[in-house]
Amino acid sequence: MDVVIVGAGTFGASLAWWLARGGHGVTLVDQFEPGDRRATSGGETRLIRCSHGEDPDYTAMAWRARALWREVEAETGAELLVDCGVAWFASGEDGWEAASERAMLAQGIPCERLEVAEAARRYPSFRGDDLAFVLLEPEAGVVRAQRGVQALAGAAAAHGARVVRGRARPEGAAAVLDDGTRLEGDVVVWACGGWLAALFPGVLRIAVTRQELLFVDGGPAWREAGVPAWVDYDRAMYGTPDLDGLGFKAALDLEGPAIDPDAALDDEPTTEPIVRTYLRDRFPALEHAPLLETRTCRYELSPDSHFIAGRHPEHDGVWLLGGGSGHGFKHGPAMAERVAGALAGGKPLPERFAAGDRIPGRSFRTAGSGVRT
Ligand SMILES: Cc1cc2nc3c(=O)[nH]c(=O)nc-3n(C[C@H](O)[C@H](O)[C@H](O)COP(=O)(O)OP(=O)(O)OC[C@H]3O[C@@H](n4cnc5c(N)ncnc54)[C@H](O)[C@@H]3O)c2cc1C
Repeated sequence: MDVVIVGAGTFGASLAWWLARGGHGVTLVDQFEPGDRRATSGGETRLIRCSHGEDPDYTAMAWRARALWREVEAETGAELLVDCGVAWFASGEDGWEAASERAMLAQGIPCERLEVAEAARRYPSFRGDDLAFVLLEPEAGVVRAQRGVQALAGAAAAHGARVVRGRARPEGAAAVLDDGTRLEGDVVVWACGGWLAALFPGVLRIAVTRQELLFVDGGPAWREAGVPAWVDYDRAMYGTPDLDGLGFKAALDLEGPAIDPDAALDDEPTTEPIVRTYLRDRFPALEHAPLLETRTCRYELSPDSHFIAGRHPEHDGVWLLGGGSGHGFKHGPAMAERVAGALAGGKPLPERFAAGDRIPGRSFRTAGSGVRT
């Protein structure tokens, strides 16, 4: 099979890697270098975790993805995963965390329920008197995002993929570059993140929003091994310990304002007051920690936060892949395995991934209030 893939983010680069190492002909096109911060897969770190509420499919896919990221590490020598664990702060006995726990236990994925006092011992500063319990995924953690897509694209090239720099537009079943080069294959996959909706108007709906990440200097204690990354689903906050000298990361996971995918990303810390209020409540020693950096990036949100992976309704050989919806990064290699299987006529993808309009639903990213209208 000869496959053209437009977009070298986590979805496109993973698919290029998977297909090229399976012996298929691959051309991977991107307007930027893989890992560019203007792509959603840019930036240094993303959480990798299996908790997805009661959803068994994303739960299993995240676990599979972890194994595949390990394969990428083994192939490329890149250090991509940090197994610091992910702690979920449960405000109720029977919310998202309890549902996630049931789904993970049913699949034999490691997770443990911690008393709040026990969880507190894992952080240099922690307050959890409002919490029912903490759910720890000890083998979850962080994947280094930019390094990850660069490793995937590099590994794809090492397996024979042709990596091309250029901006493409669809023309029938082909992809045509700005310089007029026409790329055709048995299949053309458009994995264009936040640019996807404008390339295929009326075929799918994706909202592009501006999101912020804040990094503060909490001191050396937050750089110690064993401090877990964390998610407070009901308060729509998440973050990591201080990894790779970046600082302690904290982010508000509510949908930010709409932004054009081609607009410049400013790094104004507009969410700082909300983040600092949260730090005061949860990690009190960090309330006044010096702000090291603010990073802005884009979400590309499908209406129901399910991924998009399916055929174009009018062109059999054209596939659309994206809709990461704030939780797509970690899944890249495992989605690639499934998409490659479907392209080869194997197991079909879930109907909920099909392109087309969707009914808004609960978010699978780290924010509980993700019902979109
Ligand atoms: C702040 C933030 C935090 C996040 N946290 C997490 C997390 O903790 N865990 C997690 O799993 N996920 C997380 N995500 C989500 C995750 O990063 C995204 O779902 C994922 O990276 C999307 O990947 P993609 O390949 O679909 O898109 P992208 O990475 O945007 O890749 C699309 C590529 O297509 C290229 N392209 C577009 N149009 C064209 C064209 N016409 N011609 C050529 N090239 C084109 C672009 O240049 C780009 O490189 C987060 C996202 C953000 C913004």
